Amino acid sequence: MNSSDIKGVQKHVATIIDGAAVAARLHSDLKRAVENLAERGLTPGLAVVLVGNDPASSVYVRNKVRRSVEAGFRSFHHELPSTTGEKDLLCLIDRLNAADDVDGILVQLPLPAHIDAQKVTAAIDPKKDVDGFHPINVGKLSLGDSASVPCTPLGCMLLIREARSRLAGLNAVIVGRSNIVGKPLAQLLLRENCTVTIAHSKTEDLPSVCRRADILVAAVGQLELVRGEWIKPGATVIDVGINRVERDGRRKLVGDVDFASASAIAGALTPVPGGVGPMTIACLLRNTIEAACRRHGVASPIES
Ligand code: NAD
Repeated sequence: MNSSDIKGVQKHVATIIDGAAVAARLHSDLKRAVENLAERGLTPGLAVVLVGNDPASSVYVRNKVRRSVEAGFRSFHHELPSTTGEKDLLCLIDRLNAADDVDGILVQLPLPAHIDAQKVTAAIDPKKDVDGFHPINVGKLSLGDSASVPCTPLGCMLLIREARSRLAGLNAVIVGRSNIVGKPLAQLLLRENCTVTIAHSKTEDLPSVCRRADILVAAVGQLELVRGEWIKPGATVIDVGINRVERDGRRKLVGDVDFASASAIAGALTPVPGGVGPMTIACLLRNTIEAACRRHGVASPIES
């Protein structure tokens, strides 16, 4: 937490949680972990599958492949046309499930409308499900068992820990109840003994609910929904939202939190871009290393 002095008036400015820096640290730790495993004869393998040519998905997949190669992984990249049938995609998943050099399988979502994404997710071997979306891994997470944890919520937890060393007893409010962010993040915060509230589009008086939060996470997809006056002074605010807008004639990424008003109230805050976004790929690589170690019965070199 900082204060800036403008004409003698002390103005509070939140500490910025630098996700890009935390992710860079994690990438170099992961690279060392891969080198350590290579000395023991194990090179993690990640297969990334893209169906169709959605521009945002293509960028995400390209970055995931690039980062996995940089980390020293075996990388398998499958780009299929948007006309690919569900049966053909399921056949590819079967082949990747059986491939010994593939430790992690990621099917980039969303899939074209004619393919049942739930069916595809459930077809991935849970041991290779590095996205943590398979029903078995979802169930294990809610039981508190060790499981592959979805990458974005895992990244959020690592950023929250940057700002808060003790989480037990804190009020955490998550705005957004999706299966990929809101719900798994609630499980992770519960595991840390937070008192967790999930708010959503039907929540009444959302500003009051948010004002109770010591930890406030916005995972909505609504441009600058959360404003400074919704935030408890000193709260840790994690902005998961990615909204593409045009401002001053330039295309920009903007979050679900109004950064200017929030930074005058929050204790710590993630920016967009440069907050949660960079953590997601780092956590995918981390999950793949963990999956490789579990599959081959090797102790993980990653500190939890
Ligand atoms: P989603 O559309 O699946 O879910 C949005 C949630 O927000 C829903 O639960 C809905 O009830 C809630 N909601 C919608 N409008 C609301 C309102 N006015 N008030 C309160 N709640 C409201 O979205 P998602 O997949 O969880 O993604 C959320 C955002 O996070 C999106 O902007 C997405 O692009 C971004 N995202 C970022 C990353 C990353 O790596 N940084 C990863 C995943 C998602």
